[in-house]
Amino acid sequence: MDTNGLLPTDLYRLPWTLPDNAISWLEPTAQCNLACDGCYRFNEKNSHKPLDEVRQELDIFQKFRKTDCISIAGGEPLLYPHIIDLVAEIKSRNIKPIINTNGVALTKAFLKELKNAGVFGFTFHVDSKQGRSGDWKNKNELELNELRYYYARMLADVKNIACSFNATVYDDTLQYVPSLINWAHENIDIVNTIVFIAFRHIVPQMQFDWYAYDRKVDWQNVHYHSDDERKVDIKSTDMLKETVKVFPDFKPAAYLNGTHQSDAYKWLLTERVGNKDKIFGYAGEKFMELIMAAYHFRNNRYLSYASPGTIKMGKSSILLLWPFDKGIKKALKNYLSYIVKNPFRIFKRANLQTVLFIQPVDFKEDGSQVMCDGCPDITVYKDRLVWSCRLEEQKQFNTFLRSIPRS
Ligand code: SF4
Repeated sequence: MDTNGLLPTDLYRLPWTLPDNAISWLEPTAQCNLACDGCYRFNEKNSHKPLDEVRQELDIFQKFRKTDCISIAGGEPLLYPHIIDLVAEIKSRNIKPIINTNGVALTKAFLKELKNAGVFGFTFHVDSKQGRSGDWKNKNELELNELRYYYARMLADVKNIACSFNATVYDDTLQYVPSLINWAHENIDIVNTIVFIAFRHIVPQMQFDWYAYDRKVDWQNVHYHSDDERKVDIKSTDMLKETVKVFPDFKPAAYLNGTHQSDAYKWLLTERVGNKDKIFGYAGEKFMELIMAAYHFRNNRYLSYASPGTIKMGKSSILLLWPFDKGIKKALKNYLSYIVKNPFRIFKRANLQTVLFIQPVDFKEDGSQVMCDGCPDITVYKDRLVWSCRLEEQKQFNTFLRSIPRS
């Protein structure tokens, strides 16, 4: 596809808003057992919140926001001493508990306990700039596929847990995006989603002064800053361009725009259908609209993570939904020619798989900061809903910082 020709009008705008969203973000702890280069959170020892405080945050979510899932993040949520109770609490509120983890503390026995408590899915953050130790020290993105597979297999063996991966994308790792997408295809039977998040930090080349209310502050006091100049403007379309070089048919279906920029593809979502042999095609905007609208009609909330059982319904999606969506119609043609070549292939399962590119805050020359419109990763701070990617500003300055161009 021609990535330069990507237009918001060709895509389905995910219907997520502040009060009615698919996802919400909960941080029961700010303590972590890794130190990722691109992390937004100050690693605070003994920062575990009392379970009652976290329950109150859940109350706030339920008061102000419809949500399909809660991403339990941090810090590292598997270090949180009440994680089993927390998962059970979220599940008891009829919300899907998703654990966003680096995986280091996960054992098979721990996974089974979490499954019994009602965990719906995991998102494993694995990339080459996390300071991992032992066998995974200094491994590059491709070598880390072995670790990714280890986690995906662990979940598949326990059965019926949604499996996602995310990786922060830096200037020097952008080139690996297509290889990781290819790895996800090779494991389409056990990997439901792969997410790429562009690296963002405050860096010296930014020509801004920073203000908390009317008070000028030092940008080097903000946790997510780098003293060295670094590339901090990788866009979703840059990740898409890299991908299309290798997979020319790759085509996004849906997006979230920027708060005041309709063609900022803050969340750019591609849904593909295939099996380990072949990707049959890419869903289009109508498929996404149908799924979101039908799910909301039935459940009064938008869909976030689908269960592994639903994701295995790639074949029925092709056979039932082709009249409604051009992308799925094309997938049907490819699927039929695949079957004609060898009719026994009809017994093979086809899966749906999501590939997501995320482009966090963009700084404009005039100092405006473009956020994700309908931010799915909103969290609770002091009883208010705030962007989790900028929570440190609230913690430190009690407000979000303004960036004012230097005169
Ligand atoms: S605004 Fe920040 S927290 Fe919200 S979705 Fe975008 S990157 Fe995530």
